[in-house]
Formats: sequence, structure tokens, C-alpha cells
Amino acid sequence: MANFNGKKILVIGGSRGIGAAIVRRFASEGATVAFTYAGATDAAKVLASETGSTAIRSDAADRDAVIKVVKDQGALDVLVVNAGTLVLGDPLEVDADAVDRMIDVNVRAPYHAAVEAARQMPEGGRIIIVGSVNGDRMPFAGGAAYALTKSAVQGMARGLARDFGAKGITVNVIQPGPTSTDMNPEDGPMSDFMHSFMAIKRHGRPEEVAGLAAYLAGPEAGFTTGALHTIDGGFGA
Ligand code: NDP
Repeated sequence: MANFNGKKILVIGGSRGIGAAIVRRFASEGATVAFTYAGATDAAKVLASETGSTAIRSDAADRDAVIKVVKDQGALDVLVVNAGTLVLGDPLEVDADAVDRMIDVNVRAPYHAAVEAARQMPEGGRIIIVGSVNGDRMPFAGGAAYALTKSAVQGMARGLARDFGAKGITVNVIQPGPTSTDMNPEDGPMSDFMHSFMAIKRHGRPEEVAGLAAYLAGPEAGFTTGALHTIDGGFGA
């Protein structure tokens, strides 16, 4: 198991769900971890106190705030951009402002955070974006806007991997399938429908996604970059 003693890690969007599991994983392996959140102050405080990490309230939809929070951290060994929102619905009806805000959080934030992190990141640094298997496959109606955000980070990671490869910095995307969180609870009304697309008919656990993040951030993954790492119970198979 990788050990992150002495490593400095920032998780954008870490108060709940997959992000919180990533914070817990890195903190449990000795890293100095900070994470951002938008509204869930109570959850953020509990997580920070349980893990010894630092919670920072910062809206990922605000470009200047994203750049500032990354810059303020100084030289990061690992940046994880996990913050995401999900807007589903008939594109003829769905609120255009909600779609644009989702694009701000899911696409613009990862780009600006990654670029800002790379300015100070040392050789061997790691940038990990949490995308979705929906970047590859959107097997039901109402998900076009969400899918576009998760496809966008695929191209972003491929390009940034080439931009930052000479510095020894890797850029990868984790693509979860249905994972049990507030965004997509396993006991929710859509579960059976989602499981019908999957080879392993259950939701993933946030800790399983955090394990993949730990691998990608660790020393064994230094030759892995510009790649999509799907962890989806076969949703996209
Ligand atoms: P949750 O809704 O459970 O948690 C989202 C996290 O992101 C929270 O910590 C939240 O902070 C933070 N966040 C959201 N918006 C902002 C913002 N504007 N600024 C700062 N932080 C923000 O989601 P999940 O854990 O399920 O999802 C995490 C990522 O995984 C997302 O990118 C999502 O698209 C992706 N994903 C999830 C899947 C699933 O089935 N769960 C499947 C595929 C991909 P706060 O608590 O303050 O709101």
C-alpha cells in the first residue's frame, strides 16, 4: 500500500461522498490533506476533525476562488478535483443556469485547478480528475449535459498530460460508475435501472474509488498518464 507521509494533497470537493473517502484514505496514509467544500459545513467540520485535515469553504463554480485556493496551498504533491454536480432532465425543459453552473463546477474548475497546481507542483506530482463512466456511455435520456461535462475532462486530461509530462507530472481521470453517495444513493429509486446496465449489480463504495485514487497518486503509477481509469462494475462494458 502506498504511503503518503510528508505529501501535501488538496481535494477540491471533499466534504462528502467520494471526495470524503479520498480525504480519509490519504489522511490515513500520513498525508497533509486540505479539502474544499461549498455548503456542507457540518460534514466538513466533522471530517476535518476526524482526519486532521483542513476544510476550506470555496465554491468550485467561482474561477477566481478555485485558482486562489490552489495557489494558497503552495507546492502540492497531489491535486484531486472531485467536486461535481449532476443535472438531469429533458434538455428542452431543464434550467439553463443550472446546466451552466454544472459546466463551471465539472469542467472549468478542473481545468483551472490543474493548471494552477502545475505552476508549483514538484517533479512526480499527480493531478487526478474525478470524471464519470458517463463520459463514455450515456445509456438513458436526460443526461446529455452531465455527459458533456464528463467527456470534456477526458480531452482535458489527455492534453494536460502532454503539457505537464516533461515536468514529471501525471494527469489522469477516474471514471466511477454508480457509487453510493448523497448524489446517487444505493437505495434510491433509480438503482435497479442502473444495475440493469452493470455486470456487478450493486453500487460501488466511495472507498473503492478512493483506493484507485491512492494507486494513481502513488509511486507505482508514475508511467500512467493521460488515461481514463474506469471503476464502474461493468456499466460501460
Ligand atoms: P456528492 O454530491 O455526494 O458530493 C459532492 C462533493 O462535491 C461534496 O463534497 C460537495 O461539497 C462538493 N461540491 C459540489 N459542488 C461544489 C462546489 N461548487 N464547490 C465546492 N465543492 C463542491 O457527490 P459524489 O461523491 O457522488 O460525486 C463526486 C464526484 O464523482 C462528482 O464529480 C461526480 O460527478 C462523480 N461521480 C459520481 C458518481 C456516483 O454515482 N456517485 C458516478 C460517477 C461520477 P458540499 O458538501 O459542500 O456540497
